[in-house]
Amino acid sequence: MTLQSKYFRFLTCLILMLAADYLQGQETVNPPAVINASGIWLKGELHVHSRHSTESSNNSISKIINFSKSVGMDLVCITDHDNHVNGDVAHHTWADPEFKSDSLLLLYGAEWTTTRGHGNVFSDKPYNHQRLYDIRDARDVNIGKVKESLGIHLSANHPSGKDNFGFSYDLVESIEIWNSAIWSKNANAIMIWDDMLSSGRMMTGRGGSDAHHGVPTAAEKPGANTYQAEYNYVGTPTTWVFAKQRSLKAIIDALDHGTVAVSSNPFAPRVEFYADYHGNGKFEMMMGDNAVSTGKPVKFQVQLMGNKLTNEQYTITVIKNGAKLDSFKVSGKIPAIQFTDTPDLKGRTYYRVTVEGKNTDYPQVPKSASLSGKMVAISNPIYFNFDPKF
Ligand SMILES: [Zn+2]
Ligand SMILES: [Zn+2]
Repeated sequence: MTLQSKYFRFLTCLILMLAADYLQGQETVNPPAVINASGIWLKGELHVHSRHSTESSNNSISKIINFSKSVGMDLVCITDHDNHVNGDVAHHTWADPEFKSDSLLLLYGAEWTTTRGHGNVFSDKPYNHQRLYDIRDARDVNIGKVKESLGIHLSANHPSGKDNFGFSYDLVESIEIWNSAIWSKNANAIMIWDDMLSSGRMMTGRGGSDAHHGVPTAAEKPGANTYQAEYNYVGTPTTWVFAKQRSLKAIIDALDHGTVAVSSNPFAPRVEFYADYHGNGKFEMMMGDNAVSTGKPVKFQVQLMGNKLTNEQYTITVIKNGAKLDSFKVSGKIPAIQFTDTPDLKGRTYYRVTVEGKNTDYPQVPKSASLSGKMVAISNPIYFNFDPKF
């Protein structure tokens, strides 16, 4: 055999090996395995400011509610700056006659706006926000006791931006991994989230537009920041919550647990992420779930639901313990993939996925899609060997 033909055979071999590897990585499933989880996907906005935040403009509560309904939102939490009303959210945002809806689920909350950073409170019922405001400059251990007694869900806001959450992450159940339509500024928030997950915290990732400015009605005057409403408003991004039922209590439970995914806008696809723990084809684990590792391989399924751009290809990237495990290209009616990996028998392992591709247009916030770049959706993690009592 000449050197040339040896080289040729070597090359052919290499190409075949690479192709086999490539094909193995492309385990698309069509249709994907059917998931039998009982509950309902609800889409929402978890960080928006109304006229009770003094720097907002043209953003009455009724405007936020009507807009949210018009784009098919199920839930909204209006999170006004508590320091603008000296902590008395109960007599401002919640007492506003417009704070009611026949169809939209309105969580009780506020943005805890402190010298050491910002956090959002989410609650299914009114609570004594004044107590949390009054203790804002105390030591974390004392804040923790008050927070505990109020029975609220606390969430770290814009963790890598200005006014980042400078308190202990032991105080929070969730973290804002996607703040506003401007995706690029969230990269470090994701890094912080991965660090917190790696440290053993099961911490829900969620989104929030942090919008302050609405589109003026005929009777209202535009302001210096009115232009922002075209770039960033309710739903940029959208947080999807898989709740046991359509109730405020079930939404808080889901936020606590992590059955949550974030999409760039209300019309972008939603990512769902499951694992077949028992190896029986049933995919009984979903985002937020935690199980003891058996040391055996586990099959995972990722699927894109809701609106898809059927002619577009999406890239699904799997993150394992903060590092990329694999990525897959998907397209079609229900873009889905399955992959297999073995969670560590002794140590902790978590998996989460991101979806990139062409962003779906959001005509009501026409300039938002370009700001979101290629980021379409992010899942919450599936956990193995995490300590639920951590
Ligand atoms: Zn803030
Ligand atoms: Zn805010």
